Amino acid sequence: MKTVEEYIRSIPDFPEPGIVFRDVTSLLQDADGLKLAIDEMIKALENVDFDIVAGTESRGFIFGVPVAYAMHKPFIPVRKAGKLPCETVSQSYDLEYGSATIEIHKDSIKPGQKVVLIDDLIATGGTIEAAAKLVEQLGGEVVKMLFLLELKGLNGREKLKDYDVESIVSYE
Ligand code: 5GP
Repeated sequence: MKTVEEYIRSIPDFPEPGIVFRDVTSLLQDADGLKLAIDEMIKALENVDFDIVAGTESRGFIFGVPVAYAMHKPFIPVRKAGKLPCETVSQSYDLEYGSATIEIHKDSIKPGQKVVLIDDLIATGGTIEAAAKLVEQLGGEVVKMLFLLELKGLNGREKLKDYDVESIVSYE
């Protein structure tokens, strides 16, 4: 049986020269790869006590929804600013050039609820740190941050040392 890592394609110089992009579409387009990835993520949550899965736009939706569905939990989309129709809370974070803002609906989390954050990949950790702050703005508690892939060299875990961070595959 193939491993998750064997389903991931690495694309040199995308989206910019010098970057090796870890492409999850090669995993998603294979039924066995998709099943393996979701099963591994579910396994990582087997002993976690949580109420809600939240996933970051957009690849966090792809992995977050099937995990939430399989574990019979609700799913909250963490979206780029301006996309959600009801009242939101916002959080800005720094990008390499400039900044970005993400939002969740105000009524999506009640104080004290335990939230698992899911994304396809952690690099610097900036995106998921901002998502955690959104959860915390509403009084929620981030009990785990779960990723399919981790780029270790970018030290995301250092930024997130107050959180329980787990990834299925790690790249040095
Ligand atoms: P961070 O905020 O941790 O620096 O970057 C993580 C975000 O960027 C994630 O939402 C992820 O989808 C995206 N990302 C950055 N690099 C890659 C990559 O090589 N492959 C994939 N699939 N996503 C990436």
